[in-house]
Amino acid sequence: MNYKELYSDFGKNLNLSIVKELLKFAAIPGAISFGGGVPDPETFPRKELAEIAKEVIENEYYYTLQYNSTEGDSLLADQMIKFFKKVYGVDNLKHENILFTNGSQQAIDLVTRVLLDKESICIVENPVYFVAFASFKTALPTIIGIPLEDDGMNLDVLENVLQNLDMGGKIKKVKFIYTVPNFHNPAGVTMSLEKRKRLLEIAAKYDLLILEDDPYGLLRFEGKHLPSLFSLAGCERVLLLNTFSKVLTPGLRIGTIVGPKELIEKFADAKQIVDLCSPSLNQRIAARYLQRYDLISQLENAIQIYKRKRDIMVEALANEFSDIPNTRWVKPEGGLFVWLTLSEGFDTLEMLHFAKEKGVFYVPGQLFTVDEKPSSSMRLSYCLPPEEKIIEGVKRLKQAVVEYGVK
Ligand code: PMP
Repeated sequence: MNYKELYSDFGKNLNLSIVKELLKFAAIPGAISFGGGVPDPETFPRKELAEIAKEVIENEYYYTLQYNSTEGDSLLADQMIKFFKKVYGVDNLKHENILFTNGSQQAIDLVTRVLLDKESICIVENPVYFVAFASFKTALPTIIGIPLEDDGMNLDVLENVLQNLDMGGKIKKVKFIYTVPNFHNPAGVTMSLEKRKRLLEIAAKYDLLILEDDPYGLLRFEGKHLPSLFSLAGCERVLLLNTFSKVLTPGLRIGTIVGPKELIEKFADAKQIVDLCSPSLNQRIAARYLQRYDLISQLENAIQIYKRKRDIMVEALANEFSDIPNTRWVKPEGGLFVWLTLSEGFDTLEMLHFAKEKGVFYVPGQLFTVDEKPSSSMRLSYCLPPEEKIIEGVKRLKQAVVEYGVK
């Protein structure tokens, strides 16, 4: 049977084969992977979670082993309101402003379903988190990439783009501006306070919604936490996406969308069609965990682990790449990624074959660029490999770069 003939437009436009192909590289025995943004399992509070899991299954089985409301566990919502107050300094949130999702990825998918269609325009940073990009693309909107700088997106370019859209009568087609302001995936950079404020002014001027995706903000190794766009805007005009994946465990698959009641209700309706509800068990485990432990102080251990790994990777890059001309990277102040850019002429997708030979893996920049053209950049995640493997992996990477050579 020719199954391809059965595909919907959505099915036809799903093309993640390159990602699957790349993941095979990472699974080669002995390979050192700087690929996925996969947390170090040693950061998971497994004893605490195991204890709570046993308790809530035995004592609250009428809830934890049952269906749940689409909006999610109200006990978790109570805890999250307290948590958001601590993390983002917002104190006017109600249950109606919160929807729990199966990780932030589902939140991104719900935003795509509810807000985007063929005539829509959405604005993203370039480079962009590629699974969000892939989700937006399924609705076939026009996607405009704004260059990302060391302190966040280039707002002069953004203003120009918006001005042109306004003059062309298309500004109302812009559904949102998507940004990862803290420790960007893949670029590792953080948006400055000045740019946060200016971005909000621009959004207000053109009456635009901002989609703020913040999985990494709490993983700050040094420097001061910057206020979120969501809190700076006074909980208006910004949809905030948050997740437990990098700060507790991705195994629970709990993400949160926070925003205006009207939008949250729509996202909940969309979620009902997608999966009825998120797992009751996982949400109650998270709720009891937050009730019993202070997640922020519990995170200290994970922050130390990642900070050390970041230091090791950045030092190894300085040691290995100082004699390769025009190579640059930004030392991230937190999060899980370093974005390494080689001189023009390198194609890091093509170079992956050399890296494979050497037994090291990274994610080629092409996956994250809005025009999907060859890129001389790559994303290196330092979160998963053990410390000594990071040094060895960077050595192998250097060998691959030297063998591939500049074209
Ligand atoms: N947004 C960004 C920027 C991410 O890096 C990730 C995970 N890599 C996600 C969303 C999705 O996270 P999850 O679904 O695990 O919450």
